[in-house]
Amino acid sequence: MASERQILVGGVPIGGGAPVVVQTMTKTETANLQATMEQIRTVAEAGADLVRVAVPREQDAEALRTIVRDSPIPIIADIHFNHTLALKAIEAGAHCVRLNPGNIGGPEKVAEVIELAKQKGTPLRVGVNSGSLPKHLRQLEYDNPVEALVSAAVETVELMERLDFANFKVSMKSTSVPNTIASNRMLAEKIPYPLHLGVTEAGTKWSGSLKSAVGLGTLLADGIGDTIRISLSTFHAEEEVKVAWEILKALKLREKGPVLIACPTCGRLQFDMDTVVAEVERRLEAYEDPIEVSVLGCAVNGIGEARHADFGITGAKDMGMIYSKGEPLKKVPTAELVDELFKEIDRWYAAGKKIERDDDAAAEARAWLEENEDDTQMTPERMAALEAAAAEDEAADEVLESMLAPAGNGSANGSAVQLDEAASPVAGRRFSRG
Ligand code: SF4
Repeated sequence: MASERQILVGGVPIGGGAPVVVQTMTKTETANLQATMEQIRTVAEAGADLVRVAVPREQDAEALRTIVRDSPIPIIADIHFNHTLALKAIEAGAHCVRLNPGNIGGPEKVAEVIELAKQKGTPLRVGVNSGSLPKHLRQLEYDNPVEALVSAAVETVELMERLDFANFKVSMKSTSVPNTIASNRMLAEKIPYPLHLGVTEAGTKWSGSLKSAVGLGTLLADGIGDTIRISLSTFHAEEEVKVAWEILKALKLREKGPVLIACPTCGRLQFDMDTVVAEVERRLEAYEDPIEVSVLGCAVNGIGEARHADFGITGAKDMGMIYSKGEPLKKVPTAELVDELFKEIDRWYAAGKKIERDDDAAAEARAWLEENEDDTQMTPERMAALEAAAAEDEAADEVLESMLAPAGNGSANGSAVQLDEAASPVAGRRFSRG
């Protein structure tokens, strides 16, 4: 369930059912205005809704005024240990301030920051980290780290409520994926405030992306989490943004730009798929609509599994085919597949997002597909068809007959299918070889 409460960070709604907000953090020295602004613009272009900057020194707090003024997206000031910097960040116009009340110097100093945040209408992100829980929770942390994390977060929330402050979101950071999942699930049951999700110190681009996808993806699939940050050990903060978007797109929580589908390849692959997929991915970055583009490594299975794609290509050694919504558009030399794919996409835009099919070219492509498709292959789609058909005897017999018939029409290898009963999902249940 999404959080009940909603806050606004520089006009961006977080929580209360608003779309999940993507944020990241700059890796530059904040006071280095040129480098910081360059990175902020890069992450904004990559799709960050919000960006956080570290404010560990006076000069960083001073730089905030310019950063807030010039940034295309709202700025969150990240403060640890020093409540004076938090006050300065609020005065500088930061759209949100992140602090952990447990490390800011005591309740009086927290109260001072809250007082100014109330006056200026500045929201806060308050939270706890698994590495710095209050002393009285240390034993509990040892016995039950999830409960300790949640208790610390609830205590922080209670402190905010005692100070009559509700303009905040909450984060609980842990390096452990299972603990991140369990603690956020528990906390979401207990408080109505928006949740910031992240797996702290997740790791390199590869492992960190996977950990974040598993941890945050699990929570988001449950409807838990209102804003996410992917923490990756890379200077390129835009990589964090791209991963965040892939997670949200995969869960269909938000749409942004095209979706690329590519087969995993196998021994049937007949062209340089790696290069083609990378090139298609690179060129798709220039498009904003959530069009679905599919790349299949061969036509042996037909295009059934990519039937829903707005556009797709499949290739063989020398020739390939471009299709749209499961219907062939044209046959082209493999070397021209990518260029021709993008010509078709641009033609679709020029025609007001409509497919303009050349019937002759489509017929030629269909014939090529029939030559290259192996309709005796037991593809997942055909297995599903068999399963469905198995519900009705006659239909099942028809499907089976067509699978077992000598493959003169359209079969690539010209032989009848060898049904492996041990491997078949329907083996021993419906069919006999007779
Ligand atoms: S589309 Fe062809 S190359 Fe790709 S995984 Fe399927 S059978 Fe293999």
